[in-house]
Amino acid sequence: MADLDPEEFRRLGRAVVDWVAAYRAGVGDRPVRAGVEPGWVRARLDTGLPERPQPFEVLLGELDRVVVPATTHWQSPGFFGYFPANASLHSVLGDLLSGGLGVQGMLWSTSPAATEVEQVLLDGLADALGLDPGFRFDGGGGGCIQDSASSAALVALLAALHRASGGRWRADGVDGRERVYVTAETHSSLAKAVRVAGLGDRALRVVAPSPGSQAMSADALATLLAEDVAAGLVPVLVCPTVGTTGTGAVDPVRAVALAARPHGVWVHVDAAWAGVAALCPEHRDLLDGVELVDSFCTDAHKWLLTAFDASLLWVRDARALPDALSITPEYLRDGASDSGAVVDYRDWQVPLGRRFRALKLWSVLHGHGLDGLRAHLRGHVALAAELESRIVAEPGFTLAAPRSLSLVCFRLDAGDDATRALLDRVNASGRALLTHTVVEGRYVIRVAIGAVATRREHVDSLWALLRTSEP
Ligand SMILES: *Cc1c(COP(=O)(O)O)cnc(C)c1O
Repeated sequence: MADLDPEEFRRLGRAVVDWVAAYRAGVGDRPVRAGVEPGWVRARLDTGLPERPQPFEVLLGELDRVVVPATTHWQSPGFFGYFPANASLHSVLGDLLSGGLGVQGMLWSTSPAATEVEQVLLDGLADALGLDPGFRFDGGGGGCIQDSASSAALVALLAALHRASGGRWRADGVDGRERVYVTAETHSSLAKAVRVAGLGDRALRVVAPSPGSQAMSADALATLLAEDVAAGLVPVLVCPTVGTTGTGAVDPVRAVALAARPHGVWVHVDAAWAGVAALCPEHRDLLDGVELVDSFCTDAHKWLLTAFDASLLWVRDARALPDALSITPEYLRDGASDSGAVVDYRDWQVPLGRRFRALKLWSVLHGHGLDGLRAHLRGHVALAAELESRIVAEPGFTLAAPRSLSLVCFRLDAGDDATRALLDRVNASGRALLTHTVVEGRYVIRVAIGAVATRREHVDSLWALLRTSEP
């Protein structure tokens, strides 16, 4: 069986690039949300798989016919839902290069460049974010690219279990006394990690917020830790969030780390969305106290222009993940690994195989420069600040939480039904996509500004839409 002839690949590759370019050029004109009913796509696809090769152009035709109409356009400038999923065209090119090389970077020796490019980028980004030098490889720590913040939380928990057990977890597993500390606003991936690790939901401790805020109370944490230790339980991990998914609230990392320290609890900072803002010196305060923690995660695939998946995870102790996770069957033995002189990233993650994800991140850093990344972030923060002022000044609108970077949460004074109806009307218009959360029992609209192509005009038309659809 022959692969595509390289000349044919060139021809089709151009057609694919043209297709993507045309899609992106027009994405702002499409309804943001897919308007199809369940089963719409399946009803339109041939259910039999092709027995014989088909021309590639037919596949592109299927994208136009079936895929695009059934796609929610995350790259639309009118996308303000959830958090952004930036897939800049620079990162798309990097992804193509990664696929073209087609390497498995599980061990250093299976592709030294895949490992070392990643190490260089993660060290550089640690500096650019203002992380403590202890998170760099030459500082005894190190960074890696995970598929998602959810995986980052899971492996941090596994390393924490290993450490809390004095190294017995690998052989003995858990004994039911382990506890993990979060808040009601912590991302659900922590609860899932607790389940996946076999701790059971009862291992999850929900720490109360400080009065009048959504942020973890370090005092409440200290009390809970002391009570649990006195009861013979084993505190394993505390997860403060920098920028919660609901409202962008920020837990007090320094105070949390100081409360956790006497008990030797692993502190994992989940800054999946907001952490990248620390590239801008004016937002460095977000990371106050991160120098005291064990691991720190932020996603390049949300607001940092890098196509999913690229979640950046740094740990203080470069041995922590391999100590917990490394298993070496004979067929993976090699001299470079045994020498201890290299990093084998398979030991930093759950799967064995790994893509050369660093290429798309490199492509972004190369193509935009740190200055370009800062301008991207600052532009959205400025637009969010303007929207916030408009909401504050608008009769009938109330800010539901303090603006967090580029996330604005508000509700209508007319009540939950009116707020929900407003969100439904905006989404039905097809010109913008918004999502919601609940704050203090009330239905709240979230406006997460941050799509690659979002400019002032798009936020202006969102505002016009929000005001004209007010009942
Ligand atoms: C989005 C988000 C996550 C999950 O991110 P993935 O990388 O998609 O797994 C975790 N934590 C927070 C705070 C988030 O906003």
